[in-house]
Amino acid sequence: MPVDLADRDRRRSRAEALLPDLQNRGVVAVATSFVDNSGISRVKSVPLDRLPALAAWGVGFSTAFDYFRFDDWVAAPPDGLAVVGDQRIVPDLDRLVVLSAQPGWAWAPGERYAQTGDPYPLDSRLLLARLVDELASRQIRVLSAIEIEWVVSEGGDDYVPGASGPAYGLGRLTNASDYCRDVLTALATQGVAVDQFHPEYAAGQLEVSVAPESPVHAADLSVVVRATIRAVGNQYGLRTSFSPKVDAAGVGNGGHVHLSLGRDERNLMAGGSGPFGLTDDATAFAGGILEHLPALLAVGAPSVASYLRLVPQHWAGAYACWGLENREAALRLITGSRGSEEWAANLEVKCFDLHANPYLMLAGLLAAGTAGLEEGATLPEPVDVDPAALGEETLAERGIARLPGTLRESLDAFAKDDVLGAAFGQPLTAAIRAVRESELELFADASPEEVAAASRWAH
Ligand code: GLU
Ligand code: MG
Repeated sequence: MPVDLADRDRRRSRAEALLPDLQNRGVVAVATSFVDNSGISRVKSVPLDRLPALAAWGVGFSTAFDYFRFDDWVAAPPDGLAVVGDQRIVPDLDRLVVLSAQPGWAWAPGERYAQTGDPYPLDSRLLLARLVDELASRQIRVLSAIEIEWVVSEGGDDYVPGASGPAYGLGRLTNASDYCRDVLTALATQGVAVDQFHPEYAAGQLEVSVAPESPVHAADLSVVVRATIRAVGNQYGLRTSFSPKVDAAGVGNGGHVHLSLGRDERNLMAGGSGPFGLTDDATAFAGGILEHLPALLAVGAPSVASYLRLVPQHWAGAYACWGLENREAALRLITGSRGSEEWAANLEVKCFDLHANPYLMLAGLLAAGTAGLEEGATLPEPVDVDPAALGEETLAERGIARLPGTLRESLDAFAKDDVLGAAFGQPLTAAIRAVRESELELFADASPEEVAAASRWAH
């Protein structure tokens, strides 16, 4: 639906009503951002008194931004059109957050509209909202959460772990106690419902899980939680990296996505007659995702660095299979403890990482899952061991393949995927492909160490 003058008036009044409270809370300026096709959040901001104008009319962004590479190179086609035209980024005031680790600042996720007021066809937040609505028209509600793994590093461009102590170690939590407390305090002050926080496997690595929300809001959270983690790190002189492979030799940062489907207050991931209690709808949705995973990686594991992480026996889910609580399967079904299935059961997509644009990544999953529902897709036999332990012969017999091992392979699968192509539309698909091709070119002769170093601090 295009934004018309009446909408603009409503948006302006809404912003005006927010001003006194924001002023009282010390807000000086409001930032609004969108995530580009390389996974970088690009921002514009206004002084607080301009918030009503921002809400009504947005501010301009060049159409070239859809072609930005992670290192700010513009991978636009040579037709010269990308420098002409403007989109307007408009904040979603319902999701405005006063940033507690950035005093004086508030942030709201933005959506991009054309000058005509029409939704901008390459905007990934609007795309995701549309796919959520399509599922709602089938009486299916989706809940999602994106896990965030990151490392802290001492200053400088090299990676020097900024929190010492063993994997999952109380020692690491103790050594980084004040920093960890401040991350949790900042998130709580911003109203983020944190489910869990812990030191992860790799040196200097930590993880936070947040409560599930509707997909658009889950993606918003992924953006603002990362900004908050970075801001707290800055206060401690720590550099933050969410890169899938901070150090070519180590374990990477994942961006696991949790999904559950519901209908009429019922969780469709539990209480059904399928394997482990899956309902037919949940099976079909998961089957659709499994079928499209190689192509989905082009949005969920979108960088050359992503494939340094996505290797067997690193809990990254490098095999195209599914299993109950299987940390080496790309799709890990979680049922929860007996008695908790109704609220706990969900599907975890493990093979994705935080170089992904979270809106695009979720849009891809919903498009693939919806296609599965339409086709009545099924799931193969679940895998109940580490797939790498099965051996090549058994893997081949059971039709269990490694997921693409390079961005080249997943991009080729994406280019051929009609379901994703139709859901994303031609202009967005072309921009995603151009950005990925450009990154492949950039790293054509690079060693893993060079890729990890170049990708380390951008996102
Ligand atoms: N760090 C692992 C990854 O790259 C995940 C560890 C875990 O299972 O939480 O996805
Ligand atoms: Mg983890």
